[in-house]
Amino acid sequence: MTKNLSILGSTGSIGTQTLSVCEKLGINVTALTANSNIGLLEQQVRRFKPKLAVMGSESLALDLKQRLSDMDVKVSYGLDGLCEAAAEESADTVLTAVVGMIGLKPTLTAIAAKKNIALANKETLVAGGSLVMKAAKENGVMIYPVDSEHSAVFQCLQGCPDKKMLKKLILTASGGPFFGRSYDSLKDVTVEQALNHPNWSMGAKITIDSASMMNKGLEVIEARWLFDVPVENIDVVVHRESIVHSMIEYNDNSVIAQLGVPDMKIPIQYALTYPERYPCDVGVLDLSQVCTLSFYKPDYDTFKCLRACKRAMSVGGTATAIANGANEEAVRLFLDRKISFTDIGDIVWDSLDAVGARQITCLDDVLTADKAARDFVKSISR
Ligand code: NDP
Ligand code: MG
Repeated sequence: MTKNLSILGSTGSIGTQTLSVCEKLGINVTALTANSNIGLLEQQVRRFKPKLAVMGSESLALDLKQRLSDMDVKVSYGLDGLCEAAAEESADTVLTAVVGMIGLKPTLTAIAAKKNIALANKETLVAGGSLVMKAAKENGVMIYPVDSEHSAVFQCLQGCPDKKMLKKLILTASGGPFFGRSYDSLKDVTVEQALNHPNWSMGAKITIDSASMMNKGLEVIEARWLFDVPVENIDVVVHRESIVHSMIEYNDNSVIAQLGVPDMKIPIQYALTYPERYPCDVGVLDLSQVCTLSFYKPDYDTFKCLRACKRAMSVGGTATAIANGANEEAVRLFLDRKISFTDIGDIVWDSLDAVGARQITCLDDVLTADKAARDFVKSISR
């Protein structure tokens, strides 16, 4: 079990739930990071007493240092600070819960420092999956999924003696708030409607990604890297109740699923305690209360983001970093009410035409593709 944990993005939805798991299990916290939420980070540092705390900017770091002047804690900032937290000496595991591909360099830094990774930050694998998986193999570190679908697949795989027997992965998707709607009817939806997820309470960016189904596209790519399964063997099925968190199908057509109430504390805890299990502070699943589990095919015409991610995956190289970078910018513009909801899918799709994909040989290839995608989005939204 993880004994000493650094948490990147400790003030977010996953970060705060991770801290409650740590408290329950007595896991020692070695580093905590936030972007701008200084009040919450101060409270977390006082409670969990890490060696290092990181803020998004120098001025916020100076402010935090001042607020914590009665405590023995180092304060850093920015991307260098995130990397410092990722490599913090006493940590054995780093839980990556920042939002966006800003998490890629810190994740590679943690792997190089031989830390196991509990990975929530899916954009990291979408942008630079080949680099991350190669580095993990070379350094002999484990990458444990925190994302609920990937944790479900990981749990189902525990009984798989040989990966050759595995036929496919079946990722479930809630379908979000706009399930059953047509593309045209989504043109005028508001930010508030898109942020109103039926089953999960999450950060703003992933909530918009769930509404556009970009989240499921990102997860198909994430699964491809985590489990080394070709993208043609990864299916998506819409499952409105979010009780079946994902499935695997064997070559004899037997399907194994992982079920539970929709609560991220289960996958967070399993990533930190694997292979052991401990009692968890979540509701018990009562199927007689749920009554019905429904499943549908995804609508690839309305949810263009999902189609774009599959296309990016088949192009390969930096194409997934391009789709991801374009989406990060498009979601920001939508949240700022500068573009419409359906523009997000159009932009992600068009970014794949506008920015040429290349092979990935190093981190710079990914960073260059990401920047080109963001520049493309900025150029069309001016
Ligand atoms: P939140 O927006 O709630 O939290 C994000 C965290 O990252 C916060 O601590 C935030 O700091 C910090 N952060 C944001 N931007 C930056 C930046 N530029 N530099 C450094 N730190 C930054 O997100 P979630 O917790 O919902 O999601 C985190 C990751 O986990 C995402 O990749 C998401 O896709 C993935 N995930 C989330 C799930 C969920 O249930 N929430 C489920 C599965 C995966 P501050 O608070 O100061 O802004
Ligand atoms: Mg998920």
